[in-house]
Amino acid sequence: MTTQKFKRLAVYCGSATPEDPRYMQLARQVGETLARQGIGVVYGGGKAGLMGAVAYGALDAGGEVIGVIPQALVDMEVANPDCTELHVVDTMHQRKQAFTDLSDGFVTLPGGVGTLDELWEAVSWAQLGYHQSPVGLLNAFGYYDGLLAFNHKMAEVGFVRPAHRDILIVEDTLETLLGAMAAYKPIQTIVQMRAEDL
Ligand code: AMP
Repeated sequence: MTTQKFKRLAVYCGSATPEDPRYMQLARQVGETLARQGIGVVYGGGKAGLMGAVAYGALDAGGEVIGVIPQALVDMEVANPDCTELHVVDTMHQRKQAFTDLSDGFVTLPGGVGTLDELWEAVSWAQLGYHQSPVGLLNAFGYYDGLLAFNHKMAEVGFVRPAHRDILIVEDTLETLLGAMAAYKPIQTIVQMRAEDL
């Protein structure tokens, strides 16, 4: 299947290498598949863990990979020198703004705290109306089942408004996720709401 809609996707995933080899295999396959579909990868510019696997999966398949990394991480020598482009920024805030500016959608793979920070910022900025790109979560191997239960709880209790319940697009394969993301219709954002309706 070819998903023509996306030029570049920001891919968020772990910088660690889990013992279970399926996670690294998944990340590499995601990079390869995006490259084969002509979709560029924008990511955190690291060479370790799933991040490196996505990047090298895409690069080895001839794809475009843009890394955005803060100077402090370059100094730690965790940057991937093989990226098509490596943008070195000063702060994590500039980095996350760049992920949003350079991509037309977000895909989150399994990862840890840094990955979740990036995922929730993408969801939060979609609610607010700072971007209109689809936010996808690849729930491979049921890794995010607990998070999805909590996401449901936030809506059930009323901390996530009905208009924003479907921002997070969840699928368990990349193919179905890209299809669902391509069909995403921007929602009513907080900046479009009246203060009394919040
Ligand atoms: P984590 O899920 O905690 O491993 O964090 C991964 C996310 O945070 C990535 O998407 C990166 O943007 C950022 N990050 C954390 N650690 C690194 C690293 N060693 N190299 C590059 N980026 C990192």
